[in-house]
Amino acid sequence: MTEPTEVAPGIRVCPVRTPTLPPATHTNVWILGETALTVIDAASPWPDEQQRLFEHLQQLGRPVERLIVTHHHHDHVGGVVDLRDRLGGVEVLAHPLTAPRVGFPTVPLVDGETLDCGGLRVTAHHTPGHAVGHLVLQDAASGMVVAGDMVAGVGTIAIEPHDGGHLATYLASLDALRALRPTALLPAHGPVLHEADSVLAFYIAHRHGRTDQIRRALDEGGASTALGLAPRVYTELDPRFYPLAAVQISAHLIFLAEQGLVDERAGTWTLRDRL
Ligand SMILES: [Zn+2]
Repeated sequence: MTEPTEVAPGIRVCPVRTPTLPPATHTNVWILGETALTVIDAASPWPDEQQRLFEHLQQLGRPVERLIVTHHHHDHVGGVVDLRDRLGGVEVLAHPLTAPRVGFPTVPLVDGETLDCGGLRVTAHHTPGHAVGHLVLQDAASGMVVAGDMVAGVGTIAIEPHDGGHLATYLASLDALRALRPTALLPAHGPVLHEADSVLAFYIAHRHGRTDQIRRALDEGGASTALGLAPRVYTELDPRFYPLAAVQISAHLIFLAEQGLVDERAGTWTLRDRL
């Protein structure tokens, strides 16, 4: 999915090439509205892609009234300043926790706030965990949710503790997202996810499964660093990716520590009680 497409009345996507995490190569720019447009995650830092997005918006022939960013990650905000300036300085909306993490001024958009997006009623929901200020946006008419990096149609969602990522919070946000009963999830990477509830159930189960796997690895192999656990947990993984895997494992170890199940000393993790 790299061509501009309309997925529902007033809900369009224009994927742009971004320096995102492989295997993803693009970020979806979601464009909401009939009479006027709201552009979510003008993502690309590259001039050719910024030009392509701008031309696509011009072809739609409607005014752009605002930009929104779902969260602060570089593969979501890289084209915001360029597009804002081309449009003569429209407002950029973001959650207050995103604001200090991006290099441009934003207008606060908070949990539960409803916007009129060119005839669409769109409500923002704060879903932290992947990023502290992460927002999703639900269209009332279709029930579809612009999901940012809560889920992905291609690749996986990273939880990076050094950047404010927090697994328990992410799991709670997945539950909250599920409670919105989305009719489809419109992710930032990859195709539309139509089986929204089963996708969310899978994401939750997958994280708990990974947590259990890490507990077992500590039980069977003894105390370890997160990096030392990588080959035990991700048995099929190319060793070059062990450092990336270790970051994910750390997120799960912190989750276990918060439940009093593991202890950490100088980067080495120990199971508190044998399974
Ligand atoms: Zn992200």
